[in-house]
Amino acid sequence: MLRFLCLLILTTAFANRATFDNYQVHRVVPENQEQLNILKDLEDDPNGLSFWVGPSRIQKAVDIMIPPHMLPRFNDILASINLKSEVYIGNVQHLIDTERPKVRPTVDFGWTDYYTLDEIYAWLDFLNETYPGVVTPIVGGESYEGRQIHGVKVSHRAGNPSVVLEGGIHAREWISPATVTYILNKLLTSQDPVMQDLVQSFDYYVFPVVNPDGYVYTHTTDRMWRKTRSQGGNRCFGADANRNFDFHWLEIGASSSPCSDTYAGSAPFSEIETRVLSEYLTSIADQFDAYLTFHSYSQLLLFPYGHNNDNVSNYDELLALGQAAVSALANNNGTQYAVGNIYSTIYPTSGVSMDWVRGVFNTPYTYSWELRDKGNHGFLLPADQIIDTAEETLVSLIVILRHAKEKLGRN
Ligand SMILES: [Zn+2]
Repeated sequence: MLRFLCLLILTTAFANRATFDNYQVHRVVPENQEQLNILKDLEDDPNGLSFWVGPSRIQKAVDIMIPPHMLPRFNDILASINLKSEVYIGNVQHLIDTERPKVRPTVDFGWTDYYTLDEIYAWLDFLNETYPGVVTPIVGGESYEGRQIHGVKVSHRAGNPSVVLEGGIHAREWISPATVTYILNKLLTSQDPVMQDLVQSFDYYVFPVVNPDGYVYTHTTDRMWRKTRSQGGNRCFGADANRNFDFHWLEIGASSSPCSDTYAGSAPFSEIETRVLSEYLTSIADQFDAYLTFHSYSQLLLFPYGHNNDNVSNYDELLALGQAAVSALANNNGTQYAVGNIYSTIYPTSGVSMDWVRGVFNTPYTYSWELRDKGNHGFLLPADQIIDTAEETLVSLIVILRHAKEKLGRN
């Protein structure tokens, strides 16, 4: 009987998990306004389609995941506007099945696999115990489903300027928490003198997973979930936490349609995760000079703003520093990044956390990485690329922090 029950529970667990057999990801490049408008309409009411890279402007590639039963209809739509598509991923489920190692390596937390929220939080607890006086647990608030947004503060001496690292705001971008935890580990264990100097020179507030409900949901139920898990009485759940910050909210590049993956929420800070995190950040705002966020995918290093193309006051500095950072990143193992403000480099957008930080606190060094790759795996970057991705990202981060240290004039 017990065996039967176990089987039943197992079967039920798997039965609730979304599968993506023969789902394809197509890349289309709109060449005129009509094509762009149709793609934007589809994104607002996706009805089963999932936009991995949304439509923004003419000549900018759009990546769309299509369920197999919708392929004929999708092809009809494209034909009606004379738009060609290229199959970028032939079977999404195959990438999900091969994303992680078949057998979990025996090394605990070795960045050879993606980890669950519980595993990440247990590792943060381990850091708190292992580095007393250096690592302090911090809580950025509580999520819609009642999970704490755990982080740690790393500090070797009082009075340092601070750096905030934000990961996992978009649930399906697993490489983000993986990279943030990897960097956190290096902050604590690296013997490299340059790293050790940066560790002594700044305090670090590190939040690997600021959308814990969404992250858990991608592990248990729907690997491709992006948003929070709030239920606002709509037929679609959640909002895009990175369109929900109270800075030029819903002005551009965000949706008012609850079923869109870029739904900005019912109001600025309607999502409890962004509200509590913003309150926490406000409480430490006079301490941090850098706010760094991690996303995937596209291989871009972005800085403010997204709502318009006006230059921030230190635009030239951010651009030159960003270029130096991605140049160092490329030297590490050849990965090519583009650099620029959000508006012109990826797409116009508003209500994102980095822009809110910059706009409200005038934090001088704010960057956002769109990590690997450029679409061959998209959000399903194989786990055997975690270490290389995180390592090259760290190289670029070091360039930024060394510059920040020099400019801030502290030692
Ligand atoms: Zn993202």
